[in-house]
Amino acid sequence: MAQSILAIDDSPEIHALLSARLRPEQAELHFASDGPEGIRMARELQPDLILLDIDLPNMSGYEVCRRLKDDPLTAALHIIFLSGDGQSVSKVQGLDLGAIDYVTKPFDPAELRARVRAALRTRRYQELLAQRAQVDGLTGIWNRAYFDRRLTEEVAAVRRYKRDLSLLMVDIDHFKKVNDTYGHPMGDQVLQAVGEVLASKMRTTDAPCRYGGEEFAVILTEIDRAQAWQAAQRLQAAFATLQFHHKSGSFGVTASIGVASAERVPQIELTAAALVSLADEGLYLAKQTGRNRICEAPSIDQLKTAASAR
Ligand code: GH3
Ligand code: MG
Ligand code: MG
Repeated sequence: MAQSILAIDDSPEIHALLSARLRPEQAELHFASDGPEGIRMARELQPDLILLDIDLPNMSGYEVCRRLKDDPLTAALHIIFLSGDGQSVSKVQGLDLGAIDYVTKPFDPAELRARVRAALRTRRYQELLAQRAQVDGLTGIWNRAYFDRRLTEEVAAVRRYKRDLSLLMVDIDHFKKVNDTYGHPMGDQVLQAVGEVLASKMRTTDAPCRYGGEEFAVILTEIDRAQAWQAAQRLQAAFATLQFHHKSGSFGVTASIGVASAERVPQIELTAAALVSLADEGLYLAKQTGRNRICEAPSIDQLKTAASAR
């Protein structure tokens, strides 16, 4: 996807000049003519880079920068100041406000392009790192950190908009035996295959995550209890088709699945933690009653009694 640049400058000549000079960079260019418009567009577009004129009418570029940095929605955006003022003190002020660079007008086209390129490159690396930090290295699906953040967000949305939300906790049965019998590399292959099933059998809006070890979790947005149950059955059927081959023989795996749905939790008690414990209880029950099955926690009240008894 093309990266985007927002230029905030009151001069139409500068807009035209930037359009011409930055064309080879193949970034999507947007323009704003004053501070308030620039701030609004920055919030909306989330550009990869902002080129910010200091000498703007009404609100100075410094003030625009300060406001962007104070707003969580725009604080991380990269800003390069553009200014006719080449004094060190102005550059220092701009950089101290959190801008990543400062370019003086009239710009040397090659230098401007190089600085823009460098800024966009940094931005790409940063995004890549941020994404990697949320992905599980072995299976390539979302990791626990992502799961925790996403579930908290989804639970907040359910409370606000009364939407459906379900959660599956999936735990491979007797996985330790796979490691013990066929070795850890084979165990890793099983985890990867289970991760692939989770990624391919769910809708793109669902979030399959590796919860830890051989436990997986799937956040099902706008899915009610009955649909969640069907999703769990689909997964179970897909796991049943997996076959692994080792020199000492072929084998398959099964999993136990706990289902939890937000509709079963009183609104006031609905938190990410409550939903996870509900799914965990279902999983515990599935393990207790023979594995390779899908279970729900009996009821919220029974759940509380069971939890306090353990
Ligand atoms: P149960 O049916 O009760 O779930 O039994 P289990 O053997 O699946 O569960 P247990 O929690 O006893 O063992 C989980 C094992 O998963 C132990 C651990 O060594 C293994 N494991 C955790 N992470 C990894 C991993 O990344 N790779 C491999 N190969 N094994 C892992
Ligand atoms: Mg297990
Ligand atoms: Mg386990």
